Amino acid sequence: SAAAQIDLAKVAKDRGIKYFLISYVDLFGGLRAKLVPAAAIGPMQKEGAGFAGFATWLDMSPADPDLFAVPDPTSLIQLPWKEEIGWLAADLYMAGKEVDQAPRTVLKRQLAAAAALGYEMKTGVECEYFLITPDGKSISDTSDTAEKPCYDQSALMRRYDVIKDICDAMLKLGWGAYQNDHEDANGQFEMNWNYDNALLTADRHVFFKYMVKSIAEQHGLRATFMPKPFINLTGSGCHAHVSLWQKGKNAFSDPKGELGVSELGYHFIGGLIHNADALCALTNPTVNSYKRINAPRTISGATWAPNTVTYTGNNRTHMIRIPDAGRFEFRLADGAANPYLLQAGLAAAGLDGIENKRDPGKRLDINMYTDGHKVKGAKRLPLNLLDAMRALEKSKVLADRLGKPFVDGYLKLKTEEWNAFSRHLTQWERDNTLDI
Ligand code: GLU
Ligand code: MG
Ligand code: MG
Repeated sequence: SAAAQIDLAKVAKDRGIKYFLISYVDLFGGLRAKLVPAAAIGPMQKEGAGFAGFATWLDMSPADPDLFAVPDPTSLIQLPWKEEIGWLAADLYMAGKEVDQAPRTVLKRQLAAAAALGYEMKTGVECEYFLITPDGKSISDTSDTAEKPCYDQSALMRRYDVIKDICDAMLKLGWGAYQNDHEDANGQFEMNWNYDNALLTADRHVFFKYMVKSIAEQHGLRATFMPKPFINLTGSGCHAHVSLWQKGKNAFSDPKGELGVSELGYHFIGGLIHNADALCALTNPTVNSYKRINAPRTISGATWAPNTVTYTGNNRTHMIRIPDAGRFEFRLADGAANPYLLQAGLAAAGLDGIENKRDPGKRLDINMYTDGHKVKGAKRLPLNLLDAMRALEKSKVLADRLGKPFVDGYLKLKTEEWNAFSRHLTQWERDNTLDI
């Protein structure tokens, strides 16, 4: 394989890398790493860096043996702001075996399942985020107060120094960065780079979040991808654009298909519609996620987030939008989604749609926010994390495809998180119950 031929010790010498960050992403999306001097990378490349799995968000025990994170040398990214450090995405092993619950492994297995059917999944992600004050309490730009702040040139340019540093970095890395904007909430931004192979996109997505947070810090700010940090403002989505490719051709493209999308594409969409409730537990993984979807309008006039399990043409009020031929946009996912599990969930649900020829139903060309109630049987998205978790627990499709060890481990940790939230007494309860 390409990976086996890369000698990281030599790469370090050639490119002036002094340290490697051997990283993995845990089940909750946390980025974990060891900083390894280049002189020690030889054995580390083969055997991996050791971790105590239980110390991170993985379903493991303190009595478990070491977890080894074996770096994928093809994933190497030199930190654009400190090129002497090389970042590496790693795959997890324990006692010589691949760890079934490791998010990157879960994704690689789905992409292998797609490849077995003859397809390469390509995706692009649109990561929205807020630039906030270091204490996390408010947006950082006190002049950013417009009621409709979307694409606001002045508010965008007041953050030029930060945006430029991040965009320059993406250009240097060859990601094909092509646009940056101020989004629909005060203090919110989005930066876009080219779509590519789903694993590459997921690795870049992980690195992007780290990079945005790091560069924001360098400017005395803080960046958050939290789905709904401010209740009256539009939340942060993470739209994913999806297509399957076969022999260099886009298999979702068909000039004769409705809106230029092939039957294969519609079956994939059918799979997402069929499995939406369970999928939510992965694409909208936190308690807070459900305050973004199913939300009432914000002060700008719309949340731009879906409430229903529906699809449409070029219309931003549904779960899935077909903006043009050969692809679709999945608008459900949010900024808290684990980059690997987001892609893995899409692949699993979509491949189920293809293998079982799932019918996506009728396309709805209406404003779902204002006229959704007129559509009989339009299914609502889960109203909270618990409902989504219960749907995932019941989903044979996702358990079979993503693997029971992963789904069980994920649900176990998420249940603990839900229980911790449920035990929390909120001010709302006191405000509304004290005098009853
Ligand atoms: N921020 C919106 C969301 O939460 C999406 C806005 C857009 O369409 O870019 O999904
Ligand atoms: Mg956006
Ligand atoms: Mg979008």
